Amino acid sequence: MPVKKHQTKTKDKNNLSAMQPRRKTRAVMVGNIGIGGDNPVRVQTMTNTNTLDIEETVEQIMKSVRVGAELIRLTTQTVEHAQALKEIKKILKDKYDCDIPLIADIHFVIDPAYEAMKWADKIRINPGLFSNKFGTKKNFTEEEYNESLLDVEKTLIPFIDKLKKYNIPVRIGTNHGSLSPRILEKYGNTPVGLVESVMEYLRIFKKHGYENLVVAIKSSDPIIMVEVNRLLAKTLDENKMDYPIHLGVTEAGMAEDGRAKSTIGIGVPLMEGIGDTTRVSLTEAPEKEIPVCYSILQAVQRRITKTEFISCPSCGRTLFDIEEVTKKVQEKLGHLKGLKIAVMGCIVNGPGEMAGADFGYVGGALGKITLYKKDKVVEKNIPQEEALDKLIDLIKKEGKWKEK
Ligand code: SF4
Repeated sequence: MPVKKHQTKTKDKNNLSAMQPRRKTRAVMVGNIGIGGDNPVRVQTMTNTNTLDIEETVEQIMKSVRVGAELIRLTTQTVEHAQALKEIKKILKDKYDCDIPLIADIHFVIDPAYEAMKWADKIRINPGLFSNKFGTKKNFTEEEYNESLLDVEKTLIPFIDKLKKYNIPVRIGTNHGSLSPRILEKYGNTPVGLVESVMEYLRIFKKHGYENLVVAIKSSDPIIMVEVNRLLAKTLDENKMDYPIHLGVTEAGMAEDGRAKSTIGIGVPLMEGIGDTTRVSLTEAPEKEIPVCYSILQAVQRRITKTEFISCPSCGRTLFDIEEVTKKVQEKLGHLKGLKIAVMGCIVNGPGEMAGADFGYVGGALGKITLYKKDKVVEKNIPQEEALDKLIDLIKKEGKWKEK
């Protein structure tokens, strides 16, 4: 169903109306990492090891930490799994001096969540999975609908009481594939149903005085992700719930398809100001997800963590091996956060083609490079073998160089 935008469009610094200001949210502390508020959009992943295999889990966590993961979620099916978090945390600290916050992922039974509160920095639950009072029942009467919801509330009350003791944040999550029969019957498997499902749980938490919350609604369909997150943000704002939103296209798949779906389902809400933390869910090793998260954040200008490269696709006019050269340029200059560098095979359409780059490396003649600072030529006809070093010298001269 069509939804209205939750905010009036405003223009960003580049005068682009597609970018909207970030939705105002409360800051929720997960260990030493803040989500929401003025914190950058946080990047997370999830391990795919058996959490009871502590050594393997720690190794996998460290692979993700080394490429920039800021939060790690772990499967926590049983009380024993929840206890394993204590040991994992200890080894991360003792062996690697690593304090990365750990998130316990709880499904179906609530008992592990009670144990996880002691060791984890955040708990992720889908409260709908904790009540099965009516099984797969159809044809709910109004009375039965309310009774089913009361059953969820009954399960959550002692949980919320315990949460208050530990003051540990909770991510309330609903997935497109796991709506309760109650919701499915009333709203169908629709964005409205998904949002109402999560709102039912949020109202229970709020009613019982617990708002240390993050919210997520996930779908494997990126178009539903966009629509549902627009509606979620709008509904939260209308209900004066400033909880941060976690974005993720669940079961996005692998390789280019998984990356393309994630870019749309995560990138579009981010452009519209929605989203405070994100996970790209790929059918690949967790550490592969992290660079994709950062690339999406960089592309939508929500979090600049690296050099922005502009390079042409090359064509019959290209005056050097642009793929090889671009790789070398990226290797040497990829750490210069915030700089825009263009690598162009020729200058056929003029320097405007370089989309406002700070520096340009451009084919001038066969084997000869012209260097630009913004749209001004700095030096012409540099032999290709010397051009990258000259570009580095130029960046240094302009005071923009940093050592790795
Ligand atoms: S910049 Fe030059 S070489 Fe690159 S695609 Fe355009 S015309 Fe071809």
